[in-house]
Amino acid sequence: MNVKINENFDNLSENYLFSEINKRITKYKEENKAADIIKLGIGDVTLPLDKTVIDALIKASNEMGNKETFRGYPPEYGYDFMKEAVKKYYKRFNVELDLDSIFISDGAKSDLGNIVDIFGNNNIYIPNPVYPVYLDSNLMSGRNINFINGSKDNNFLPLPTSDIKKGSIIYLCSPNNPTGSCYKYDELKKWVDFALNNDSLIIYDSAYESFISSDEYPHSIYEIEGAKSCAIEICSFSKQAGFTGLRCGFTIIPLEIVCSNHQINKLWKRRQATKFNGVSYPVQRAAEAALTDNGIKECMDNIKYYMVNAKMLSELFDEKNIYYTGGKNSPYIWFKCPNDMKSWEFFDYLLKNANVVGTPGAGFGTFGEGYFRITSFNTHEKTKEAVERLRKLL
Ligand code: PLP
Repeated sequence: MNVKINENFDNLSENYLFSEINKRITKYKEENKAADIIKLGIGDVTLPLDKTVIDALIKASNEMGNKETFRGYPPEYGYDFMKEAVKKYYKRFNVELDLDSIFISDGAKSDLGNIVDIFGNNNIYIPNPVYPVYLDSNLMSGRNINFINGSKDNNFLPLPTSDIKKGSIIYLCSPNNPTGSCYKYDELKKWVDFALNNDSLIIYDSAYESFISSDEYPHSIYEIEGAKSCAIEICSFSKQAGFTGLRCGFTIIPLEIVCSNHQINKLWKRRQATKFNGVSYPVQRAAEAALTDNGIKECMDNIKYYMVNAKMLSELFDEKNIYYTGGKNSPYIWFKCPNDMKSWEFFDYLLKNANVVGTPGAGFGTFGEGYFRITSFNTHEKTKEAVERLRKLL
């Protein structure tokens, strides 16, 4: 067929990370049928939804089956009750949000991927390593991409440098996936001040915000003065409330952000009204319930469960004196592969010698090479067993 395609897709690398992992596990299992493999590569939640959330989901689903309470298309930007719930949640961080700045979505990935639609051909700055969606969505749109590199030297928390061009879009992810590292107030302020002074916009991914337990770290970029003029924040109920299968998130675009004489909030409204038909009523009621006092408490119990695993794992790295980041305000632990092994070499070594699976750091960017990510989403029992195996090996 002589139909032209978006040739930018040719610039994407093969999305092979998790398929390659599965291929190697399958092959190993075929050759070692008795192997009891523990998966510490899980990037998905494993605990079920909380009672408060499920009760709200059932109640709202029943309303949909009743003539008097049935609802059709939801508002593209979210029901007011849901936006009010997000607004109230942000008051916990002393952030006052305009209701019109909140957009309810079917998860952070969609909005992170779609936000490119409303911008022109700017210089894009993306952390390396990081969640791959920022890079791939900008590649698909043919953007000019630069990296802000993480390493042991900056504890995988890159700060602004003078070579970043004015008028750029900068992605930040804190707590970071995959490194688990998290910007402190003064560090994030450096980015906000940089953006304000250099006519640049920050896209801030706070999907793991609820794993922050220390007062030293901001939950939202809007805790930093001036951020409402230069930052979009994208968040998710996936990890906070176990919504990976239910799908809900939100994006905040303050009314103050103006680029090339256009209010960015208005452009996003226009984009969403054209290409998105909203999040279903039962899911929004479930997400609203997750933000009630009871909902937050129950969600935090699940997060505490995962963080017990993170503690078990990070204590092992402390004991072995192996460099790592994360594990404290994040479900991820990111560590340097022993004996200068490369990421995939260590993957095979760990699988063969401990029957433990993780994720090679090289899959998250070139600066992830030589590093490895493990997660705290397995059970206490399996994590404990994995720690014992790792203790013998590392
Ligand atoms: N942002 C980061 C940093 C993530 O790690 C993930 C999922 O793993 C997402 C966003 C996607 O979130 P959602 O499930 O809401 O699409």
